[in-house]
Amino acid sequence: MNIAPVTNAEIIIVGGGAIGVGCAYALAKAGKRDVLVIERDDDVGNVTTSQGAGLCGQVRDNTERIQLAMHSVKTFRELQDSEVKPDWHETGSLRIALTESRVAEFRRLQQAADQAGLETHWIDNDEAGRLWPSMDFSSAQGILWCPSDGYMTPRSVAASYRYNAARMGVRFATATALETVRLQNGRVTGIHTNRGHAECRYLINAAGANAYHVARLAGLELPIVPVRHEYYVSIPIPGLTPDLPCFRIPELTLYGRVRDGGLLVGGWEPRALSTDPRAFSADNAPPPVVTDWPVLNSFSDRFSKLFPSARTIEKSWIGKGWPTFTPDGKFLIGESSRVPGLVMAAGCNAHGISGSGGIGKLLVESLFNPNPSAYAKSLSPDRFTEINWEWDSARPAAARVYETYYGV
Ligand SMILES: Cc1cc2nc3c(=O)[nH]c(=O)nc-3n(C[C@H](O)[C@H](O)[C@H](O)COP(=O)(O)OP(=O)(O)OC[C@H]3O[C@@H](n4cnc5c(N)ncnc54)[C@H](O)[C@@H]3O)c2cc1C
Repeated sequence: MNIAPVTNAEIIIVGGGAIGVGCAYALAKAGKRDVLVIERDDDVGNVTTSQGAGLCGQVRDNTERIQLAMHSVKTFRELQDSEVKPDWHETGSLRIALTESRVAEFRRLQQAADQAGLETHWIDNDEAGRLWPSMDFSSAQGILWCPSDGYMTPRSVAASYRYNAARMGVRFATATALETVRLQNGRVTGIHTNRGHAECRYLINAAGANAYHVARLAGLELPIVPVRHEYYVSIPIPGLTPDLPCFRIPELTLYGRVRDGGLLVGGWEPRALSTDPRAFSADNAPPPVVTDWPVLNSFSDRFSKLFPSARTIEKSWIGKGWPTFTPDGKFLIGESSRVPGLVMAAGCNAHGISGSGGIGKLLVESLFNPNPSAYAKSLSPDRFTEINWEWDSARPAAARVYETYYGV
């Protein structure tokens, strides 16, 4: 694909991961077409996004968050009808409770889903067994089925956003690294890159694990903490077909799906490994993730409760990376009032691919709707001021969001 020159644009997006290219697509659909995406890698979707497990779960604990995910599903369906597809599989998903207190939590989640207009049903263990024949559901106390959940291939999602945004006029400058941000009277006016400089009205910071650094280049300190996350994919297992539903087993802190004929199983470990973004520079990615076999083996041990052979099946591929977490577990979306022109689209909290469609919608709302919703406002970077947070507590708080991902 062509690499666009670095030229002035109304909106420059730094970062071509799922969030950056998803925002480019949403902006173009909203009629904002003077948009330049700069990405330091040779292609979009090559960094954290490429490592994503690709699950998209819409059942969340509040209406607005569910509607955000529902908008993503709508976007994936729409992209699936285009020439370059996100490889969206609307398989449905099983949320499996192993205790009565979890069943009670699922009931609350279902109420939120009902309010948001998301279809969910309780199904019995026999029906779950028909949907996932090789899984043993005998320990399940309740199973919530969401028929419109599913999964996609993360790199394909990024490629699909890129293709469809480019068709609407968005320019993509890959192999282009942001080096400095130009400010005038405290407002962002442009950027310098390794391939030249450009002026802009808005600079959207979608730099993933470097979003902290890009904000710093504009003079804003934000608590964006990379936290390590991993999953494994097993060798192919007879009978596992791509149409089997995704699953989540909160008591075991596990999620999964079928990938390449094998099992993809990921999870949340009780002690998260975070890294301090201040310890590496804007020019660098976070330190490489070293595969943590004890953690991955703990996933297969736990999963053997429902899939007895999980413990012994060979693992053939490991997904790993540094999604970022915020101390309150919410996305960072919108313009900073302290640094006008700097707009955040970051703090993915490990659901930035499934969130990308909804994040793009909220970004457009927060920038161009004169009366954005209370939810859009609640995601503003302005919630973190100079005095209401500090690193000593922000980093453990962000790690805690990871550790309690499936907390009740
Ligand atoms: C193991 C694992 C499993 C996951 N599973 C899921 C899942 O099932 N579902 C889900 O929704 N999410 C999942 N996630 C999280 C998901 O991958 C992230 O939320 C998402 O990829 C974040 O997208 P992003 O665009 O913010 O970041 P990235 O994909 O990292 O993109 C940021 C981009 O910014 C670029 N960049 C940085 N600095 C500069 C600069 N100075 N100049 C130019 N470009 C720059 C980088 O090169 C990079 O391409 C998972 C993550 C991991 C690691």
